[in-house]
Amino acid sequence: MAYTKTTTFNRPSRGASFGGRPGGNRSGGGRSNGGGGGRSKRPAKQYINPSRFVQAAKPAVEVAPYVPTHNFVDFAFNDLLKQNIVNKGYVTPSPIQDQAIPHGLNGKDIVGIANTGTGKTAAFALPTLNRLMTDKNSKALIMAPTRELAQQIQDECRSIGKGSGLSSAMLIGGSPMGPQLRDLRFNPNLVIGTPGRIKDHIERGTLDLSGFNIITLDEVDRMLDMGFIADIRFILDRLSRERQSFFFSATMEPKIEDLIRTFTTDPIMISVKTGTTSENVEQDVVHYGGMHEKIEKLHDILNQEHVAKVLVFDDTQRSVERLSEELVARGFKANAIHGGKSQGQRMRALKEFKDNRINVLVATDVAARGIDIVDITHVINYSTPQTYDDYVHRIGRAGRAGRAGNALTFIER
Ligand code: AMP
Repeated sequence: MAYTKTTTFNRPSRGASFGGRPGGNRSGGGRSNGGGGGRSKRPAKQYINPSRFVQAAKPAVEVAPYVPTHNFVDFAFNDLLKQNIVNKGYVTPSPIQDQAIPHGLNGKDIVGIANTGTGKTAAFALPTLNRLMTDKNSKALIMAPTRELAQQIQDECRSIGKGSGLSSAMLIGGSPMGPQLRDLRFNPNLVIGTPGRIKDHIERGTLDLSGFNIITLDEVDRMLDMGFIADIRFILDRLSRERQSFFFSATMEPKIEDLIRTFTTDPIMISVKTGTTSENVEQDVVHYGGMHEKIEKLHDILNQEHVAKVLVFDDTQRSVERLSEELVARGFKANAIHGGKSQGQRMRALKEFKDNRINVLVATDVAARGIDIVDITHVINYSTPQTYDDYVHRIGRAGRAGRAGNALTFIER
């Protein structure tokens, strides 16, 4: 498939296979879902009292480990999927997988309150791929807020579904239309994408969702934050009436509940959230007076030995680019990620960061969403976030998987 050996992430194989064609998903242009940083349209920042940026990390609370009630072998899914799970090194299901997969396999709608890092992707991917393999008339749509998250989902689906013969199309903004159009002509079993680009295809008449009977909305809260609500409703209205839905969100709020009520039937609710991800992050502020002192202070912080892997946030595409260039000129191993960069450039920067070839990644908020890199030690807010909610999302990038993290926020004296 798609999940064939020749298919690679950035150089996808021929045909409507997972991820498109050679040359697909490489460079920019088109509508961006993962941008961020337009100066003119930026609303005024919410005032956040600097005291809210200072907080000691709470000592890790001893919680009894979750005891799964299933093993992967117990689940009634295809042997090929089971083998691929073994090959991925998954031994026991995570709590969300343990609770969601049996219902998912029974065709139930599922609402999962779960953040990144909980294994939620496999929780919806396994039942979805199993159904696609069992029923060749089924089709699945997976929507995510950002290109990066869509790519991560694609990776997970590709490895879980390796050898299944299923086909897919990846419909994300910032990638050329040509390969996406070609993939869609092959009538793929699975479509993964961001709402803006999916809607574009529907409006062009190149994507007909009437036969799609499995739908996943991942990180619903972020999609709503990013203003995708109208696009989401537009898309959901076009799916098959008989369908199975998976909705995942890190938070639950009235707008999300409303969406769930409208678009799911008697869903199973599963919550594996254990509190805000920022609790194990040591938070402090850095005072500066003037731009010169600001960059010098950042320089000194980055030079400290324990500041090993750092995500630095700044406001705009331009400021992110400039700051990254400045840090490189000062000898730091840095790169930038923002919506003005091509998809290929963004993926390369992320990979460098993941593989520790650089240890400083400068980012806009939107470009950094959905990034799951477990060993980030520090988040630095070189500029204050737009809202406190953005702040919590930013600093949650450090301190993943129970590790202690650090957050420093620059405040002008
Ligand atoms: P997710 O929350 O889906 O982004 O998954 C977070 C990380 O956990 C990813 O790197 C997955 O590959 C990994 N993962 C998911 N499920 C399991 C499992 N059952 N056992 C071990 N690792 C897993």
